[in-house]
Amino acid sequence: MDQSTFSCVDCAVNGCEYRDGKHPAFCPTTDFKLSDDPWLKEQCEDEEGYRIIESAAYSAHVAHRETLSHLEETVIFARKMGAKRIGIAACVSLADEARAAARVFRAQGFEVVGAICKMGSITFGDLGVPPDERGDDAVLCNPIYQAKVLNEAKTDLNVVMGLCAGHDALFLKYAESLCTLLTAKDFKFDHCSIRALRPDDESGDCRRLSQERVEW
Ligand code: SF4
Repeated sequence: MDQSTFSCVDCAVNGCEYRDGKHPAFCPTTDFKLSDDPWLKEQCEDEEGYRIIESAAYSAHVAHRETLSHLEETVIFARKMGAKRIGIAACVSLADEARAAARVFRAQGFEVVGAICKMGSITFGDLGVPPDERGDDAVLCNPIYQAKVLNEAKTDLNVVMGLCAGHDALFLKYAESLCTLLTAKDFKFDHCSIRALRPDDESGDCRRLSQERVEW
């Protein structure tokens, strides 16, 4: 493999986790100094940027120390950053879990506004294009509308729950508030998508997909 293409995913030491850690030859930390990068320094020291960095560092630390769930970590983060109104952008297949998340956030003192992916009930016909194999009355996901609804609700933080790969990209592109991921979608692994990346998982997906190109 061409070593000029190496990056953090090819690193075996992850020395950046410590100030005096080891770094491989291609490491972007070796010659890095925050003071040498005025743009980055400005973003990190900006009032909002710093508030989020500090809040996330706090919630991650508490979650790690007390072995909390990601839901609990998200509540701590939202509270620490001063969010009042939380948007939930969810896949319709996780509507029950989205309602459960709303109950949790409301009980923890937040206002909640939800936006389910099929809102608007648009079809390919509405977009003026031929339908795919699902037929011309199949309702499409509408992530731009989800973002618009949550933008208009002036949410302080949006929580993304199981949006499809790609629909999530559009939602994140159009959402004006900060967004954080509560759950990823995974039909195969009950939304525990990390399982596909565990070499010892009984599915064998990690090994199979890293050894051969697969077409669906
Ligand atoms: S920043 Fe450097 S040490 Fe950290 S993961 Fe990337 S290559 Fe490895």
